[in-house]
Amino acid sequence: MTDKYTAFVGHGWGRDLAKRLGLPQPVELRRYAQGEQLPGPVLVIGSGPAAETLGTALEAWGVEVRRAADDGESTHGAADGAGGAKLEAIVLALDAIERPEDLSAPVLAAGKALRSLAGCGRVITVSRRASSADEPALAAARQGVEGTLRSLAKELRAGSTGNGILLADGVDAGAPSVLGALRFLLSGRSAFVDGQFLTVGSADGELPVDPERPLDGKVAVVTGAARGIGAAIARTMARDGAKVVVVDVPAAGDALAKVANDVRGTALQLDITRPDAGERLLEHALGRHGRLDIVVHNAGITRDKLLANMDDAKWNSVIAVNIAAQLRINEALLASERFGAGARIVSVSSTSGIAGNRGQTNYAASKAGVIGMVRSTAARLAARGGTANAVAPGFIETEMTAKVPLVMREVGRRLNSLQQGGQPQDVAEAIAFLASDAAGGISGAVLRVCGQYMPGQ
Ligand code: NAD
Repeated sequence: MTDKYTAFVGHGWGRDLAKRLGLPQPVELRRYAQGEQLPGPVLVIGSGPAAETLGTALEAWGVEVRRAADDGESTHGAADGAGGAKLEAIVLALDAIERPEDLSAPVLAAGKALRSLAGCGRVITVSRRASSADEPALAAARQGVEGTLRSLAKELRAGSTGNGILLADGVDAGAPSVLGALRFLLSGRSAFVDGQFLTVGSADGELPVDPERPLDGKVAVVTGAARGIGAAIARTMARDGAKVVVVDVPAAGDALAKVANDVRGTALQLDITRPDAGERLLEHALGRHGRLDIVVHNAGITRDKLLANMDDAKWNSVIAVNIAAQLRINEALLASERFGAGARIVSVSSTSGIAGNRGQTNYAASKAGVIGMVRSTAARLAARGGTANAVAPGFIETEMTAKVPLVMREVGRRLNSLQQGGQPQDVAEAIAFLASDAAGGISGAVLRVCGQYMPGQ
């Protein structure tokens, strides 16, 4: 799973050489495997209501919890991990802060505890989302959490990540999607998610009966599933209990049939740019499986050229596949009463759609378009209890990125806090989480799966 450079600097003289020359030292990330134990011990810092709620939830999941007040003073157990096993995660409950000065004690306490954080550890902040309706000092304190966390994530090494959960007004830390997000961020499922915030906008959603099968009973459609990220999404959703319909162009029919077979799902050969693609998807899912709960818009293409050299065909084909087809399919889904309660749409965007990328004006237009579409669709789906979200991958090791010239490829994969490319599996895990009932309170969000890719945040 690791690239050649990561394998080389992981052992013996390769490791010594990288250290001496100050070269990146990526490590193999802790990824989810079925039967995964959540990491522990977890240090929970904070004395607001969220600290109590989150500590209790963690204990109910069988995690060893150590607690510390805002100033890091231990309330039970050793706060800094001294004398005990290394900490595997630090949860910083900052929901009660009111002024920027209130950040200092808990954040500095977390800083001290970092010395005891194990490799592939987690730092997770839980705080309230800043709003323009807040008093200026309150908004400053709340926004301050984001700056601190994003910087801290850049300081962490050895595969550790830092992410945050933002609570909207009226949502408390015990809401299903807060606990769902906490579990996702602690787990190996979020291995390549770093420096990101998930906003929980409502108390909707439900925790799964069996955390190993959060998609039990659901029917999901995944487009572009014959290979790469799409095939990983199909496999991950099937592992999590969903019945999966895999979709790809007729030319990829053989590979598609193999994926369908592997996931015990069904294959639909379909070019998503066809005008009736949405109706065909619905007809297949309802006819073969009796329902449709989740649609993952993953199919995408690149036709890179500097704008000065861009021709009509390159521009138009990227727009047609990456955004126009999704819009048309969503219209058909929303027109159907059978795409009902608890519906989920998850679209694959890209960090290029956020930060822009040289040679990708067409691709970035389409991927930024996906973000706009998801925000607008979220409001429309809310009426039927559904959600729409986007996942924005950074550099992921696939056939698409294998075509990037060698030097650019090597730079691309090191330019993030985890100093490596992500795996298709990493994108798939984030999508599976957003498609689950546990994420019912998260909608209109863009979750980057990019190892905290440096360009554009
Ligand atoms: P890939 O080229 O390996 O796979 C894309 C799949 O989509 C292919 O199987 C292809 O046949 C299918 N497809 C293309 N046009 C289609 C159409 N009209 N109808 C149906 N299927 C169609 O790409 P990938 O790297 O797995 O990327 C998957 C998604 O992730 C894309 O949307 C891509 O833009 C996005 N993405 C990838 C990366 C990365 O680093 N690989 C980064 C950011 C975003």
